[in-house]
Amino acid sequence: MALREPDCLFCKIVAGEVPAEIVREGERTVAFRDINPQAPTHVLIIPKDHYRDAAAAGRAGRGVLDEIAVAAEEVAKAEGVAANGFRLVFNTGPGAGQTVFHVHGHLLGGRGLEWPPG
Ligand code: 5GP
Ligand code: ZN
Repeated sequence: MALREPDCLFCKIVAGEVPAEIVREGERTVAFRDINPQAPTHVLIIPKDHYRDAAAAGRAGRGVLDEIAVAAEEVAKAEGVAANGFRLVFNTGPGAGQTVFHVHGHLLGGRGLEWPPG
């Protein structure tokens, strides 16, 4: 059983209690399409275990962030956006737009990804 937080939306997606369009499932991660996509490819990659943000996941020292980065590249390849380049974003804290407090990497690709963002 994954480390789980009651009332967490993404824990419910991991448990299959809330539907999602899953594009990749690993032993410890799940990747699914964002319900409100900001790019042609917009996939969220999460650990099955609940950590509130990227720093908490990092502190756990279990390689979770490594797995998210590897899964992101695999999904990007499958979506055909790896060669052109993609963005992997971890919004951290409400002021940065974090609304779901179960760590998730936003994989964005398939459009211009100029930096700094306009
Ligand atoms: P945050 O704002 O926390 O960085 O990202 C949360 C993301 O989750 C948002 O991009 C939002 O569109 C997405 N989201 C919120 N609720 C759901 C849902 O029920 N299903 C899916 N697939 N994505 C969701
Ligand atoms: Zn959770």
